[in-house]
Amino acid sequence: MMRLPEFRYLAPKSLREAAAILTGEGPTAMIVAGGTDLYPNMKRRHQTPATLVSLRHVARLAGVRALRLATGGDGGAARGLFIGPNTTLTAMEENALLRRAWPGLHEAVRTISTPILRNMGTIGGNILLDTRCNYYNQSYEWRRAINFCMKCDGSVCWVAPGSDICLAVSSSDSAPMLCAIGARLRLVSSQGERTVEARELFQKDGIRYLAKRPDEILSGIELPPSHGWRTAYRKLRRREAFDFPVLGVAVALRFEGDVVAEARLWLGAVASAPIAVPEAEAALAGAPLTEERIDTASRLAFPKAKPVDNTDFGVRWRKEMARLLTRDALRSFRAA
Ligand SMILES: Cc1cc2nc3c(=O)[nH]c(=O)nc-3n(C[C@H](O)[C@H](O)[C@H](O)COP(=O)(O)OP(=O)(O)OC[C@H]3O[C@@H](n4cnc5c(N)ncnc54)[C@H](O)[C@@H]3O)c2cc1C
Repeated sequence: MMRLPEFRYLAPKSLREAAAILTGEGPTAMIVAGGTDLYPNMKRRHQTPATLVSLRHVARLAGVRALRLATGGDGGAARGLFIGPNTTLTAMEENALLRRAWPGLHEAVRTISTPILRNMGTIGGNILLDTRCNYYNQSYEWRRAINFCMKCDGSVCWVAPGSDICLAVSSSDSAPMLCAIGARLRLVSSQGERTVEARELFQKDGIRYLAKRPDEILSGIELPPSHGWRTAYRKLRRREAFDFPVLGVAVALRFEGDVVAEARLWLGAVASAPIAVPEAEAALAGAPLTEERIDTASRLAFPKAKPVDNTDFGVRWRKEMARLLTRDALRSFRAA
């Protein structure tokens, strides 16, 4: 049985207090939300923080509500949505505003792990999820037997021993969808607050996979108004419940009548960060969504997916599935 290492658990009542703890303790302190990723990681000794800072008692960090910024209209669709990072995945799944405004994000969340884990897991933890790899997500003893790997305790990337960077995979279902939607993320620390585009947060490096300092707390997720936008998400995994994605396809299209005025297509779980496919976006924009356009865009997604052999399934098949799932996601707009 794998046991948690010892740690100190603090539950501040405000963000300011939480930020002060992170500043005071430095990188030996970490935020914990639902703990569904962090606690298993701690049991495997991937992360061994001396102090965990829970945000559970910080008010207004959970829930989905209409953004107060703009004018009138019908809640989320016209004004955008604010999602607190401590909102559980189950609460998001049950939220009608979210389902109506951004069904692709709703679908991505609905596919995460299992109902029980979604009761504990939060959207903040999902966005900031650690990258994964067959050589990393193993017990301490297993990892020691292969002399560890670059991501934790070792120096070699066992997936590609010549690689200078870690190739662990971004495995968050929500990340590619938030990039496609154009979500903005609020980060708070003792130094103040800043807002970044979701697409700017993720970095192609399995170790330094977030453009976020350890003392920064994710304090909010802003979704833009959804008028004209339609979204879809497709996921590849072995078991329909439980498994992490080994490929995710996130599509957001803005329609003006029959014409696709703007297109965004992102692939998840095929690299250390979600991958944009601007070539496919260009092929879709400015014309009706015909079967020919769908075929072209799907073919353009294929070369962008460059999975390596560090998750479930063969890499060639996962790459081919990028084309097929892109086609499937795009066809869903024609069927609706
Ligand atoms: C069996 C199993 C299957 C799973 N399947 C999937 C899947 O299919 N798809 C998927 O995407 N995930 C999956 N997960 C991973 C996980 O359950 C979810 O990603 C979940 O949303 C993580 O949220 P959490 O609140 O539990 O995060 P935690 O474990 O609490 O935290 C995760 C990370 O985020 C940081 N963090 C959390 N909140 C904040 C914040 N507000 N500010 C700064 N840092 C923060 C933590 O420090 C930690 O580094 C699975 C996990 C398990 C155990």
